[in-house]
Amino acid sequence: MNNYKIETKCIQEGWKPENGEPRVLPIYQSTTYKYESGEHLGKLFDLTAPGHMYSRISNPTVDFVEKKIAALEGGVGAMMVSSGQAASTSAVLNIASCGDNFVCSAAIYGGTTNLFAVTFKRLGIEVRFVTPGMTDEDIHALFDERTRLVFGETIANPALDVFDIERFAAIAHAHNVPLVVDNTFATPVFCRPFEFGADIVIHSTTKYMDGHATVVGGVIVDSGKFDWAKAGKYPELTTPDESYHGVIYTEQFGEAAYITKARVQLLRDLGNSPQPMAAFILNLGLETLALRMERHFENGLAVAKYLENHPKVGWVNFPALESSPEYDKCQKYLGGKTCGVVSFGVKGGREAAMKFMDSLSLANIVVHVADARTCVLHPASTTHRQLTDEQLVNAGIGADLVRMSVGIEHIDDIIADIENALSKVD
Ligand code: PLP
Repeated sequence: MNNYKIETKCIQEGWKPENGEPRVLPIYQSTTYKYESGEHLGKLFDLTAPGHMYSRISNPTVDFVEKKIAALEGGVGAMMVSSGQAASTSAVLNIASCGDNFVCSAAIYGGTTNLFAVTFKRLGIEVRFVTPGMTDEDIHALFDERTRLVFGETIANPALDVFDIERFAAIAHAHNVPLVVDNTFATPVFCRPFEFGADIVIHSTTKYMDGHATVVGGVIVDSGKFDWAKAGKYPELTTPDESYHGVIYTEQFGEAAYITKARVQLLRDLGNSPQPMAAFILNLGLETLALRMERHFENGLAVAKYLENHPKVGWVNFPALESSPEYDKCQKYLGGKTCGVVSFGVKGGREAAMKFMDSLSLANIVVHVADARTCVLHPASTTHRQLTDEQLVNAGIGADLVRMSVGIEHIDDIIADIENALSKVD
């Protein structure tokens, strides 16, 4: 790996053309690959020779984008999947089976909470949530001999809590399990969790990495640093896999054991693979990721400061604001920066928040966050509308809460839109 800065890696990593080849990443729109001999193909099936055999498992276009993302995060390998949900699913299933459990920060994306607490439960895998205010002692008490990993989100969606990566890495490693971090909102431009002790990183690439709200996707990145053999509790990585003629992943693939197994077993069996066209589009987004993140942050900060001083706004949550309880962690893990998502409360509760949202014109009402366009959502009347006001408060989502994903338009236009909408609120 070279020493390029992140901005350069966003452009130059991944596809590196040889003499006379296309400068731009080609789309290999093929499910299948040709071989000169059956013997060679046999070696692919034994995992003793590298190469593509079928696009459910790997594809050249996808492979070059995986290499770029691995370089951005500083990992030994990456595996793209069809969505962020598929990334969380495979990251856990790669090392946890029925009867196992894992420890997870409660401040994570609601879809992930559902996956872990409902669907994994049906598979016999138990999630044990770390709630705010728990001491290290409380967290250690959640572990037992069947605990297989710890999971958290660098910047939680939508709570915007900043995950204390070093603290949780130390706790995980004390129990010989890896720390898995969802780095979707921070992106490797602002935080590289491996530098703070995380072992596996996942992303919903649907968000800032794509950045244009065009393609749903996900990725898992392996730091290569976790010692699976020494931990002594991952037989799926350290004992023979009969479906590949007895391959032992830790012995044959060394530091890439985890990510290789995820691909050759889980992508093969679950089939949640990405399409070459999706990888191509994601790559276009990645080329401008560093530029866009800086602008998302600048605009987000300007919006947060504007709202903080507005008489019709009750509170503002943005980790880079000095008033934020997340400020110190934002300095430590994100270099004082954060993504463009701001949440705030409009005085007057539900009606006022809805009136504000309906009065915006540049900012659109959408369920998505983290693309180039400014967008807004009022969870109490949409994603969480089934909850009463009291239940909303318990869930940390007040009826007044508006979540704004600040885009990369000119800041004057964004603020003028907000100012106009707030002027319509009584
Ligand atoms: N992780 C985070 C932090 C998210 O915000 C999301 C989606 O919003 C996901 C994972 C799930 O990703 P996807 O929608 O690509 O399946």
